Amino acid sequence: MIENENKTRTCMDTEYDSSILQLEQALAHIISSIAPLQSSEQIGIHRALGRVLAQDITSPINVPPYVNSAMDGYAVSHSDLTAGGETQLKIVTTIMAGAPYDGEIASGQCARIMTGAKIPKGTDTVIMQEVVQVGGDTIIINTTHNSGDNVRHAGEDISRGETILSQGRKITPADIGLLASLGIAEIKVHRRIRVAFFSTGDELKPLGTLLKDGQIYDSNRYTLYSMLSCVGADVLDMGTVPDDRHATQQAFNTASANADVLISTGGVSVGEADFVKETLQQLGDVKFWKLAMKPGKPLTFGRIENCWFFGLPGNPVSAMVTFYQLVLPGLQKLSGQQQFEQTTLRVPCISTLRKRPGRMEFQRGILEKDGQGVLVVKSTGNQGSHVLSSMSKANCFIILPLECGNVEPGTEVEVQPFYGLI
Ligand code: AMP
Ligand code: MG
Repeated sequence: MIENENKTRTCMDTEYDSSILQLEQALAHIISSIAPLQSSEQIGIHRALGRVLAQDITSPINVPPYVNSAMDGYAVSHSDLTAGGETQLKIVTTIMAGAPYDGEIASGQCARIMTGAKIPKGTDTVIMQEVVQVGGDTIIINTTHNSGDNVRHAGEDISRGETILSQGRKITPADIGLLASLGIAEIKVHRRIRVAFFSTGDELKPLGTLLKDGQIYDSNRYTLYSMLSCVGADVLDMGTVPDDRHATQQAFNTASANADVLISTGGVSVGEADFVKETLQQLGDVKFWKLAMKPGKPLTFGRIENCWFFGLPGNPVSAMVTFYQLVLPGLQKLSGQQQFEQTTLRVPCISTLRKRPGRMEFQRGILEKDGQGVLVVKSTGNQGSHVLSSMSKANCFIILPLECGNVEPGTEVEVQPFYGLI
């Protein structure tokens, strides 16, 4: 299907290589292929941060549950107040939050009342203490007030039966507080997705070993582990798989039997000792894409038995960019999440950016305020797909569309802040 879409010609195709796939096409294919996991579990709300709701939550109560004071002051009946003149009222009680007053406040009387305390019968308005003169058990009011001032109504925030959180929502700290405010101690959430991952490459060595000539430390597994932890996945780190046919096949078999998703890095580019590709062709139903994006041109996506598979490029920045742009939305969909649009904004770029038209680019940027307090973005410098420090320095991607060429300082660009990514 994708291959056919790929051949659909647009006015751009005359200028650009039509054998490669656009990011949006690849993303649409991933999103439409993956269905949310169906199993769910009941958990206590204190463990629910970052989990995905598997039910709609309706409120069993009104919030606030009773009419209460928004201020420390005096609860009065508005009809007792003399418009444009002075009113004298007798204080008959003091009402604290959590200790409601059962009696009724008569005409000519008032109650001293604290913030959050229930408004007593016979009153409808709270006069803030700062505008009241107090003498013994009497107050004098000579300012103008509206009926209902400083009174919070029952159900003003949430009314009983209202849907306050919908299925597919990723639970935030505010949501947990909201659930607690409704007296809801447990909720149904989708089960965590289980994600296995491994690196491929004979040059990769684990931490704790001394590097010999031609060797590097395996960093992708650590970035993947961290990104997956932010997603809230259960992770299965399968280590580094050597460039060897048998080891590669075994790794794929183990992962697909034990995880919902497998992510590998490296070994999918042209000219590799290419056991990943060979194994996938035997075991799975996968597509090998050449994406019109930089970094992250080669990407493999498909299925091995019941396991989704993403084969990411080995270069550390490419692996991260393809994870954020393509894998993350797929994992979010699988997790049951319903909203996974990533936030972008447009700001002036204050650096010169080098780019050739033809591919969409995700350059690494630093979003900051300039001397006038205006939000601007600047480049992190060297944009090589092996320069992992550019990701570490950055706090956003600068997204340059495929047709865009060099960017001169002062040009407005689209940026995608990292904080909104997971
Ligand atoms: P590959 O996609 O396997 O051709 O790898 C492309 C580049 O990324 C090579 O320079 C690899 O050494 C490097 N690379 C591959 N995997 C990793 C990894 N797990 N950690 C760090 N660098 C890697
Ligand atoms: Mg390799």
